[in-house]
This record gives sequence, structure tokens and C-alpha cells, in this order.
Amino acid sequence: MKILLANPRGFCAGVNMAIECVERVLLLKGAPVYVYHEIVHNRHVVDRFTHQGVVFVNSIDEVPEGSTVVYSAHGVSPDIRKKSDERRLIQVDATCPLVTKVHNEAIRYARQKFTIVLIGHADHDEVVGTLGEAPDSIRIVESVDDVRNLEIPSDHRIAYLTQTTLSLDDASAIIAALRNKFPRIQNPPKEDICYATTNRQTAVQTLASECDLVLVVGSQNSSNSKRLVEMAENRGTRGHLVDDCSHIDHAWFDGIETVLITAGASAPEDLVQEIITMLQKRYGASVESRHVTNEDMHFELPLSLRKLEELHVGMV
Ligand code: SF4
Repeated sequence: MKILLANPRGFCAGVNMAIECVERVLLLKGAPVYVYHEIVHNRHVVDRFTHQGVVFVNSIDEVPEGSTVVYSAHGVSPDIRKKSDERRLIQVDATCPLVTKVHNEAIRYARQKFTIVLIGHADHDEVVGTLGEAPDSIRIVESVDDVRNLEIPSDHRIAYLTQTTLSLDDASAIIAALRNKFPRIQNPPKEDICYATTNRQTAVQTLASECDLVLVVGSQNSSNSKRLVEMAENRGTRGHLVDDCSHIDHAWFDGIETVLITAGASAPEDLVQEIITMLQKRYGASVESRHVTNEDMHFELPLSLRKLEELHVGMV
């Protein structure tokens, strides 16, 4: 067996920043630390933090008054910030700056009285947060079929935005359908699908045809990880999304010579290495690292965290 190891893969700058935020708040405040929604969509990351005393909540009402709450990388709607203000919570905002960019675009288009078509998965935390910025101006579409059923009065100015972690294949089909139906629709000033999603999908797109099987390390609720499996399957190579070694079915490897391994933007590298070690031991697999795109993005820690740290230094 030969393993092709895709580069880039795994943690992106937004996930690194969000995880560091929680680590620093834990150091500063001690457990329990409250995080609104999963900090990133990965079961192992969430479980590891839970063992350290992080409490993940789905409602701000679950956070005791006056405590500290961290917002996840996927962002929150203004309504959540208002509820936190009402409960006098100290808010640390670990929203990825590339998600905040989409929020700001939605606010700007809504102020200019555009109807905004938001391409994304309606139940995803990121889309729920973006929708909350301008609920009366935003229409969500998930598919080309949704575009067919979309009715917008002809005198409206229209713009589209996208979730950051969409499939490049699906997004381009939906955008083409939108342009066909609304020829004057405006596109976002800069591509909303983020660099990490694009790079990981491009790596699979480039390498999948050389492989018999693609393993994507990531959790079932990770949008960008699921899109990597779809990217492989769209190119005719079978793909599986696995949280870790224990999710692997060895029947998958019958007759398989080359396996591509990649990881979603929220999947820790140690899980990738565990799978490689297992395949080396069990099948004598060799490993060939394949570099498709350079990636050196880094995001500063959020101002809300830096302020909290300064305050703490002032107190000790
Ligand atoms: S996947 Fe993209 S948008 Fe999401 S946290 Fe990473 S860099 Fe930010």
C-alpha cells in the first residue's frame, strides 16, 4: 500500500486562533470556561477541552451571569451578543476573521437595501450567525433547485454571499444558476469561500485521480471535511470521513494500492499520524508527502482576549 499525504491539510489559521483563545481563557480564569457552540466542529477537540473543564452550551441562558463566554470560530448573530450583554457576560470572540468578513459584507449590503442571497447550509452555525446580521434582507439557498424556486422582485438590487466552507463544485453551479436567473446580481468584493477550504479541496481535486481511496480525517458535523469527501467522489474516487482510527473499516482496503489521506480544517494532526502508523504496521504502507499549495496564514488573537489578558495582568 502507498499513502499519498495531502498538503495542505488539517488545522487552518482560524481554528488555531480559536483553540488558542480557549486555552488562554482556561489559563486565565480556570475551569469552568463556557463556550457557545463547539469551538470548532471536531469531536476530539471538543472532548479534550471538556476534560479540561470547558462547558459547551447551545444557549446563552446556560451560562451563569457574570461568567466568561467564548464564541466559536463560526461566529454568532447580534442577538447572541445582546443576550450576553443582558447577562453581563465577559465575551471573548473567537470568530474567524474570514467569517466576520462575510458578516460585514451582509451588513453593508443590507444598509444599501440589497436583497442578499446567502449560499450555504441553513442549519450550520456560521449561516445562522450571518443570517442574524440582516434577517429581513437575506434569503438562503442551498442548491440549484433552491435558486429555481427563488422569487425576488425585479426592481430589487441583488448580491450573493457564501458560507466560507462550501464545496467549490456546488458553489460554482449555484452561482452560475443565480447569474442565469438574475444577470445583474453582484458578487462579493472578495471570494467568501476561505483559503483553507479552497486549498484542501484543490489538493484532493489534484491528487484523487492517482488514488483508489481517499480518507478524510474529520468529524461528521464538519462542513469543510464533508466537502473533501464529496470532492473525491465527484472525481470518481471513493472517500470516507473518519474521526480517528477506530472509525476505519478494514474491508475498505480490499484491493486498494494507493490511499490519499487528508484532514479537514478542524482535525488535529495527531489523529492523521495515528492512522498513518496503523496503516504502516498493518499493511506495510509507504508514505509520500504531496505538496499542492503553499499556506502560511496566521490570525492575531482577538482584541476581546487581549483586553481580558491586560486586565488580568493589571490585577496581579
Ligand atoms: S475553515 Fe476558513 S473560515 Fe473556517 S475557521 Fe478556517 S480559515 Fe476560518
